[in-house]
Amino acid sequence: MKAPVVFVGHGNPMHALADNAFTRALGALGKSLGKPKSILCVSAHWYGGGASVTHMEKPETIHDFGGFPDELFAVRYPAPGSPKLAERAAALTGATLDDADWGFDHGAWAVLKHMYPEADVPVVQLGIDAALSPAAHLARGRALAPLREEGVLILGSGNVVHNLRLAKWTAHPEPYAWNVEFDAHVKTLTEQGKFDELAGDTSSMPGGQAAVPTPDHWLPYLYVLGAAGKDPVRWAYEGFEMASMSMRCAVFGA
Ligand code: ZN
Repeated sequence: MKAPVVFVGHGNPMHALADNAFTRALGALGKSLGKPKSILCVSAHWYGGGASVTHMEKPETIHDFGGFPDELFAVRYPAPGSPKLAERAAALTGATLDDADWGFDHGAWAVLKHMYPEADVPVVQLGIDAALSPAAHLARGRALAPLREEGVLILGSGNVVHNLRLAKWTAHPEPYAWNVEFDAHVKTLTEQGKFDELAGDTSSMPGGQAAVPTPDHWLPYLYVLGAAGKDPVRWAYEGFEMASMSMRCAVFGA
């Protein structure tokens, strides 16, 4: 059976340790989807020159942030890798195999810890090549779609709206108007299947300039749209945090 495609808006890394409406939604999502054969994750936090795919049998848990409590640095997500899936993903996308540099960054483990707490599903991470256009990232997602037929859940982890510079660190701040505006635009176009339009220039979309100041957290969404094909969307979680982030989570094909 064809595996689903999931996008999670991950927000603050501290959700990894939290028990709140968002993390409970991730737990419920993992339960409702059941365990796939393996997971291919495209995380906002592996963004740079070229694209690699984790090829290790036992990937390390990477703590790719600073200024958070020791408790967060102590988190390990001991899921196995899958060299075989890595080789398939590399063949489909042209990514290079990584045997030493990366592992699971918090875009992957802070989410998977809630979705699949037993860490018994093999996980591979695919990096994002910063040199590619948004349309090329959408095309990479389309190239990955055949993996779904092999039982691979494709997971994008980022945020549809992510502006760290304008984030408010108070309890429950109201979202900025541009956050609500861009998030609604993405919701509408996704429901209408206008994926090529979403793979255009975000700065010319409503609220887009402030919502997507850098492409890293946005691009995983395009991989998910590409892999989703014509499957209808359902929203596993919707909401905002820190005024400048959308926590929107999408599921296709389940
Ligand atoms: Zn992030």
